[in-house]
Amino acid sequence: MKKKIVIGAVILGVALAGLGLARWTVLGRETQFVVGGALVDVGYRLQDRLERYDFANSHDITPEQVWEEIQEQNRLSSGMRTRFPRTARHPLVALVVCMDARTDTNELVGDTRRYYYVIRTAGSVMSEREHEMLELAVANGVKLILLTTHSDCAAERAAATPELRGQFPALALAVDNREAAVEGFLARPKIADAVANGRLAVKRVNISTLTDRMADTKTE
Ligand SMILES: [Zn+2]
Repeated sequence: MKKKIVIGAVILGVALAGLGLARWTVLGRETQFVVGGALVDVGYRLQDRLERYDFANSHDITPEQVWEEIQEQNRLSSGMRTRFPRTARHPLVALVVCMDARTDTNELVGDTRRYYYVIRTAGSVMSEREHEMLELAVANGVKLILLTTHSDCAAERAAATPELRGQFPALALAVDNREAAVEGFLARPKIADAVANGRLAVKRVNISTLTDRMADTKTE
């Protein structure tokens, strides 16, 4: 038994050393990303106790039970932060993403918990409030703004379906005006100036909801 533990420890040590050595190679980086992704997935599976109200299972749970689960999850999660404090990071990237739960910004570009500002709205639609927040982020050092849309968007579907437009008129109107809102943002003097001077890039991408793959649609 003791021998097996020693052999296991040696194998783990060699594997970790190999990963460490490979850190600066392209293949090494990819390997680390895949291993990291698998570990993150395992971690989430271990932590996720909310299975009773995901999309694949029965929704036989009351709102109060959901609230109790959320509070318990937060108690556990905030306990982790106390045990393992985070290093403060200074985000250089701001993402604007639809609120669709299938798009997980951590999966989209790796760990977004500290490195990115994330704005999530229905249909990725920005109002003046978001414009101002992004302008503030740029003033604080953000160099890249990523404006995203995604496939199979419920907000876009609501805007494109007459019956749903009647039911969600404000949402439909907001999606109609999404492009104009982007143009308005880009026309803000401080944003236009930052782009013109090379201090800021604004990229527009469409995310495949199934694969998280980003397709470049436009660069400002
Ligand atoms: Zn959407």
